[in-house]
Amino acid sequence: MPGISSSPDAVMDDVSTSLLVLASRNRKKSDEIRQLLQPRKIEVRGLSDFNDVPEVVEDGTTFAENAALKASQTARFLGLWTLGEDSGLCVDVLDGAPGVYSARFSGEQATDESNNEKLVSELAGVDEEKRAAHYVCHVAVSDPAGDVKLSVEATCRGRILSEPRGSNGFGYDPYFLLPEYHRTFGELAPVVKRYLSHRARAFQRLVPGLVALLSGS
Ligand code: IMP
Repeated sequence: MPGISSSPDAVMDDVSTSLLVLASRNRKKSDEIRQLLQPRKIEVRGLSDFNDVPEVVEDGTTFAENAALKASQTARFLGLWTLGEDSGLCVDVLDGAPGVYSARFSGEQATDESNNEKLVSELAGVDEEKRAAHYVCHVAVSDPAGDVKLSVEATCRGRILSEPRGSNGFGYDPYFLLPEYHRTFGELAPVVKRYLSHRARAFQRLVPGLVALLSGS
């Protein structure tokens, strides 16, 4: 089975049925997800709250597959409700790349900077009107046995600039322009990204079902 290969005992404290584990090691993405769930009073725990949670190998070919892998393998290991999120940037003229490879677009040691450099170089010479792109966010929620109970996806359309603008957000945000706002996600305040982004839209769809699942209704 791809992904988690061993099952040492996890250290869990103060476990309750409304607790939700967030299966991500991306700090900025996790911060955004915590902010999106915060008004719902869902108790979110990160992977750093547990010992020895194995890495999940993201070898799916779709955002949905990778989100499900993260959610179900981590849930099974910890025996807790777990949310897996897989997201990325799809550029039309690059046939949807970097897509599910967004985090490691420039290689296994990729950073946001090296990924953005590669993006800029691949789009060099491409006219403004041909730089359409969209972010995708897929969220899967698994029960403690590893069965995915909820799965939603949302997108956010924009355009890729050749020069960065702003320092908010993370990843490709300084290059991702929302044409109707004349701002990149790097320039827009975090509170605005929390309303408009692919992640915001996915969580708007997810939350009613998630609240029902965690409350057992
Ligand atoms: P994942 O953690 O495997 O889902 O990879 C997500 C990657 O997609 C990140 O490392 C970024 O490169 C990109 N990405 C996803 N969502 C965003 C976003 O909201 N802003 C900027 N980049 C994003």
